Amino acid sequence: MTRYTELAERYGTPLYVYDLDRVAAARQDLFDALPEPFSLFSAVKANPHPEVLRALGAGDGRVCRAEISSLGELGAALEAGFDPAEILYTGPGKTDGELVDAIGAGVRLFSVESLTDLEHVGAAAGVQGVVADCLLRINSASASATTSIRMTGTPSQFGIDTETLGEVLPKMRAVPGTRVAGAHFFPLSNAKDEDSLVGEFRHTLSVAADLEREHGVPLRFLDIGGGFAAPYAVPGERPVYEKLCERLETTLDELFPDWRRGTPHLACESGRYLVGDSGVLLTRVINIKESRGRTFVILDAGINTFGGMSGLGRLLPVAVQPEGPEQAAEIEDGTGLSASLVGPLCTPGDVLGRQVELPNLRVGDILTIPNAGAYGPTASLLMFLGRPAPAEVLVRGGEVVSASRLEHSRVPLTPLAPSAPLEGPAPVGGGRA
Ligand SMILES: *Cc1c(COP(=O)(O)O)cnc(C)c1O
Repeated sequence: MTRYTELAERYGTPLYVYDLDRVAAARQDLFDALPEPFSLFSAVKANPHPEVLRALGAGDGRVCRAEISSLGELGAALEAGFDPAEILYTGPGKTDGELVDAIGAGVRLFSVESLTDLEHVGAAAGVQGVVADCLLRINSASASATTSIRMTGTPSQFGIDTETLGEVLPKMRAVPGTRVAGAHFFPLSNAKDEDSLVGEFRHTLSVAADLEREHGVPLRFLDIGGGFAAPYAVPGERPVYEKLCERLETTLDELFPDWRRGTPHLACESGRYLVGDSGVLLTRVINIKESRGRTFVILDAGINTFGGMSGLGRLLPVAVQPEGPEQAAEIEDGTGLSASLVGPLCTPGDVLGRQVELPNLRVGDILTIPNAGAYGPTASLLMFLGRPAPAEVLVRGGEVVSASRLEHSRVPLTPLAPSAPLEGPAPVGGGRA
């Protein structure tokens, strides 16, 4: 029995196993690839498990700050011990209630997507008698390298169009309760190689320098986004960026000669790189069936457990990690199965992978989906079809340090105003008493 099968027997499947030593190693590798001083924000959405967050935000040496975009993520970050004053709150739909609560909890740094978004932050800060630092998220008119998820240069709910900055900036600088502290970019996710990553960062830095020079955007703080890559649900290693640090330093020396003294304060962000390779998903084969010449392997993990965002058509494929040389050979030389990996849900959309090369399987076998530490449960349709959430186990130094399962429950709501009979339009057909 392998270690994974042992854990699957003990905690049941579907089961996520996250290795905290790997989280710490990824954090170290990423800091090693960054100049100093440089802040690194961990994107909580990639894996909000408090133990994973703790491994990112605490420890010796350089530790991550948290990038959040909801009160749920704020709660997870605070539980994990992040200092609220160091947190960055982002997102296009920050509600007044959320802003009041976040500021009340001590968050002081926000990324804003428009003048009105900034005004909302200012109103929430004003009520509490504080001033919030705001980074203008920028939707640059120009783009550089080719990328997998591009969120800039096109019409978008994200960012302020650079073409409009000249007109809108003076208004933004006058919003009470706020201080325009700098700029935030996030043009790229999962760069295909180090050259694209470096190219995108250089481009971003030159756009930022232009914004400062041409429009007078004050740049005390400059968050240049991310793009650090990691394999997702397929075997493979995350890249180690050998040249990034030196190339960033060269570009920074050219464009921002005072950066080493902290002007501007530089930051970047990562989700998948920091946590992706820390996790595996263990899932059991429930059934195997043939249909019109194709094989379907039905698992106890579907899009309610993993890859729920595959509906967006961009996050999977899935492959399995062979359990030893025999299985590896079956996958390699095609003497195993080629099948669709599907979940247990009553929807034809519950597909984890098509034509996946697999070892020879039997009902009851456990499959290991590697590199599943980012965008696992958090990005899945946990509620769909009322199945329990997967168990999540954390190991450090080979020992299990935490095991739990998320549970959602219904809570009654108290109406905001005293209950009164609802007055709506009469039901179609005249209605009845
Ligand atoms: C999602 C997100 C990230 C993390 O992206 P990865 O590709 O997982 O590194 C970072 N910053 C922002 C603003 C995001 O929305």
